[in-house]
Amino acid sequence: MSLPASSAHAAHPFFDVRHDCLQVGGVPVTELAVRAGGRPFYAYVREYMSVRVAQLRAAMPAQVQLHYAMKANPLPGVVEHMATLVDGLDVASGGELQVALRTVTAPQDISFAGPGKSEAELAQSAAAGIVINVESEREVELLGALGRMGPRPRVAVRVNPDFELKTSGMKMGGGPKQFGVDAERVPQLLSRIGQLPLEFVGFHIFSGSQNLRAAAIVEAQQKSVALAARLAAAAPAPVRVLNIGGGFGIPYFPGEQPLPLAEIGANLRVLLPQVATAMPGAQLVIELGRYLVGEAGVYVCRVVDRKVSRGQVFLVCDGGLHHHLAASGNFGQVLRKNYPVLIANRVRGAARETASVVGPLCTPLDLLADRAELAVAQPGDLVAVLQSGAYGFSASPLGFLSHPEPVQLLL
Ligand SMILES: *Cc1c(COP(=O)(O)O)cnc(C)c1O
Repeated sequence: MSLPASSAHAAHPFFDVRHDCLQVGGVPVTELAVRAGGRPFYAYVREYMSVRVAQLRAAMPAQVQLHYAMKANPLPGVVEHMATLVDGLDVASGGELQVALRTVTAPQDISFAGPGKSEAELAQSAAAGIVINVESEREVELLGALGRMGPRPRVAVRVNPDFELKTSGMKMGGGPKQFGVDAERVPQLLSRIGQLPLEFVGFHIFSGSQNLRAAAIVEAQQKSVALAARLAAAAPAPVRVLNIGGGFGIPYFPGEQPLPLAEIGANLRVLLPQVATAMPGAQLVIELGRYLVGEAGVYVCRVVDRKVSRGQVFLVCDGGLHHHLAASGNFGQVLRKNYPVLIANRVRGAARETASVVGPLCTPLDLLADRAELAVAQPGDLVAVLQSGAYGFSASPLGFLSHPEPVQLLL
């Protein structure tokens, strides 16, 4: 049986329901709760990640390289699994780099992007032989100094483009930004890179995140390729890697539809010959986090108390905002909307009601579902939040109120 998360949400691509109980990777969620020692938990399913990557590969031209941006889910077991499926890993800190270096991915297929890289992180990256997406003149000078003493650090220039990814959940390029180097300053930086003992490998242009409109992604990809082609003329060496970011979104809220991959694949088929003409030998790379792992994970906590306040039902749980900031609506949402939430051990239930799902924190922000249509639940029942494989555990204030951390299961 496919999953009606609630009447407001579309059927889920992976999870299903048996005997009215949510199945995660073929295992009843009630059994996973026992595996988690009775504590709130996240569960991620390797097989769903594999399926997602296979679907994506089928829709993209074979020449396009796929990287996993591991900040979406940095659990070492997840990263190790993703490393077997993708062509490279993108890290955003020295800590993530250590995890990436323990996978099967070769150092030259690991790239490090992020503003404010410390001297230690730059030295660590140069020593490991990974690609450093430089985000400032300072990083170039520091790496140049390292290159005088050892092997030439590999650098790609992260460009803050002169356009924005339209209708994106999170804009990370265009206008004044702390990310990358403004496109108009890049030619000068390229000439400086040419003077220093650095190995220039290419460009990185990442314009945004969580986009569900293929047309907006297509437009950003076209503009990224055109911008890179212009900048390549000023590069000190041939462009070998052109990373045009990602931004592929997943549906979270009522009415949202999965991204139509075919349109994006078709556009990349048009762009590849343009890349080959303007930057012969360059590899086109897309980097995705959320899209690859977001739908492969679920967060589960337990109803501790059932309260009725002036006619409104509150299911008070042993997990909430401190475990799953994004589902509470406090991680980049402008207008709060409910993630797909359901009573996991009685998905349909004998009776249904409108209830709010809240956590144990002393703040009204601790809200997992605001007046959702759910099966009638009692203390002991399990609440599941779907679409929780990305920006969950590691993006949450786990220390807030000193409750125990959730367990992370990998199936
Ligand atoms: C966060 C980030 C990503 C991943 O974004 P998703 O929306 O999870 O796909 C990719 N590249 C860079 C540079 C990032 O900072």
